[in-house]
Amino acid sequence: MTVKCIGILTSGGDAPGMNAAIRAVTRAAIYSGMEVKGIMRGYKGLIADEFIPFKTNSVSNIIQQGGTILKTARCQEFMTPEGRKIAYDALVRENIDALVVIGGDGSLTGARIFAQEYNYPIIGLPGTIDNDLQGTDFTIGYDTALNTIMQAVDKIRDTASSHERLFFIEVMGRECGFLALNGAIASGAEAAIIPEVSKKDDQLAKLIDNGFRKSKNSSLVLVTEGDITGGAMKLAERVKNEYPQYDVRVTILGHVQRGGSPTANDRILASRMGAAAIDALNDDQRNVMIGIQNDKIVYVPFSKAVKKNKPFPEDLYNTLQILSI
Ligand code: ADP
Repeated sequence: MTVKCIGILTSGGDAPGMNAAIRAVTRAAIYSGMEVKGIMRGYKGLIADEFIPFKTNSVSNIIQQGGTILKTARCQEFMTPEGRKIAYDALVRENIDALVVIGGDGSLTGARIFAQEYNYPIIGLPGTIDNDLQGTDFTIGYDTALNTIMQAVDKIRDTASSHERLFFIEVMGRECGFLALNGAIASGAEAAIIPEVSKKDDQLAKLIDNGFRKSKNSSLVLVTEGDITGGAMKLAERVKNEYPQYDVRVTILGHVQRGGSPTANDRILASRMGAAAIDALNDDQRNVMIGIQNDKIVYVPFSKAVKKNKPFPEDLYNTLQILSI
């Protein structure tokens, strides 16, 4: 089937570089002779008929902006067959023959279900700072968030070492420790308490038992948010109760990690993936996420991308341990 008109939306948690992806998809689609419609507020706007015709200049001057010009939202209605029927009817009415969905694990799960239910062509782009999608080495937004974390930890290091304190710095990532692990390596932190390891081990007890301050006069530990690690506040409480000799403080980086101008790496990744989404449609690919593996664009079936079993980078974890002696 030749695709004549595509719809594009961003959904779920926003990530820096989403705008670069919107620009790339729009320009590549117009270059291939397709019509483009922007859909506001993710699946919510799809259900509420929020379509905007996009021309090449609709996406001018956005490559450097964080956030998403299409806005994003979470949409409970799209989780129901009734909601998805309204969405499908809207796409038919608008003569949109394929969708490009930029989002994380949840958004691509929704895309997979919808594509199957209506035999409707969708191409996904991995837009999330968490880097938690399977089948791609990197997701759009991850590199920018990592740089934000590194800069914040550099600043915390100054005050931590002046006061000889132990700092727990909580970062995002949900069930995935990439931001904490690579953030710790990039900022020279002592350790990363991450879900993949916390599931099996009491990382805090091990760190303390190993005497992790040794000759150092301060310690920085990055912690992935969420129930599996317990989060930075709970860990600090534990230290206060179990190891009162430490002067402990907590910083929760929160939403600063989501914002800011995307790094060169994220802009390039988003641009390549956006153009690849249109190549994929022209190649008659359906219901795949665009991924990048060893610097080559790949097509990853939705069912594989959202499986939540991204391999844990054991080598990086070992490197962090070696370098923090
Ligand atoms: P992210 O894409 O960042 O992981 P969410 O998990 O919040 O964000 O998902 C974004 C949206 O994707 C949800 O609000 C919902 O509209 C849609 N979605 C998520 N999971 C499903 C599902 N199982 N079925 C249908 N739609 C879903």
